[in-house]
Amino acid sequence: MEHVIILGGGPAGFTAALYAARANLAPLVLTGRVLGGQLSLTSEIENYPGFPEGLGGMELMEKFQQQAERFGAVIKYEEVTAVRFRPGEHHITTDSAEYTAKAVVICTGSSPRLLNVPGEERFFGRGISTCATCDGAFYKGRNVIVIGGGDSAMEEGTFLTRFATKVHVVHRRDQLRASPIMQDRAFANPKLAFVWDSVVEEVLGDDTHGVTGARLRNLKTNAQSVLDADGLFIAIGHVPNTQLFKGQVDLDEQGYIVTDRRQRTNIPGVFAGGDVQDHVYRQAITAAGTGCAAAIEAERYLAELEHGKG
Ligand code: NAP
Repeated sequence: MEHVIILGGGPAGFTAALYAARANLAPLVLTGRVLGGQLSLTSEIENYPGFPEGLGGMELMEKFQQQAERFGAVIKYEEVTAVRFRPGEHHITTDSAEYTAKAVVICTGSSPRLLNVPGEERFFGRGISTCATCDGAFYKGRNVIVIGGGDSAMEEGTFLTRFATKVHVVHRRDQLRASPIMQDRAFANPKLAFVWDSVVEEVLGDDTHGVTGARLRNLKTNAQSVLDADGLFIAIGHVPNTQLFKGQVDLDEQGYIVTDRRQRTNIPGVFAGGDVQDHVYRQAITAAGTGCAAAIEAERYLAELEHGKG
């Protein structure tokens, strides 16, 4: 049986691994097939303290991983398919093995929310993106659509004006959710145009060009229209990666894992850190912070278990 298994290979998971490894717990990290979480989709990180010049998202993730491995963390790129949490002996099944652990730290992060409309699946990666920093440069001199009215949509939209000729922000209401400063910046940008009260009914395109536009519906008038564009960026929030944990640990109404201030879930020996339990801050540094706290709490839990108090 493992002392501690960490689920997830983003900033929270690798920080938890670093702390657990330095506590001589030889943690096993199950990262899934995609390493680095959301950070690996970010081209340039300028707000991770300690790197005044900024660095690439993938580069930062590699450093996280190397640092955890240096102290004995074992990293496996296996996908977790099922979990069964029982205090004292938690069971984890992956696509290729079965594990048990006395403690588990869940750091599985979140994924961009999608529209679930016709054309989305077909053109994903061929004109549809959830990451302007990754794909924005492909749209030099083109028209693009951004969906959403929050800070992410404003950030993505404003960023895309560096490349695109016109950025159409399509929002389902007539008011933005974004913070005042982001709204001000967006409204002041002459390359940003707003389409209010509207949703995408279908992403349009063909095999040669990829995305060519979107069919919209105005929610107030029900009128349909076609907006031509070469790319479509979806920025309508995130959904936590907690499908596996339903019925195993308490989730809130949005599906995020509920933790107390010490990163404990309702199951003894199961902790969580990072975006899987945080829909407010969602920063690499806050994910790393809660991953660290979760590992320290796991270490304390194991020490108590050892002394018969767990
Ligand atoms: P968010 O604040 O939840 O905004 C999501 C937006 O998408 C909302 O405008 C929402 O519409 C819309 N939306 C949701 N589901 C939709 C659907 N199915 N179809 C169409 N539209 C849909 O998410 P976020 O913008 O990703 O921000 C999340 C958190 O991160 C926030 O706390 C934000 O402040 C923070 N953040 C901060 C920064 C920054 O400060 N630089 C940057 C990015 C994110 P409604 O408004 O009608 O609900």
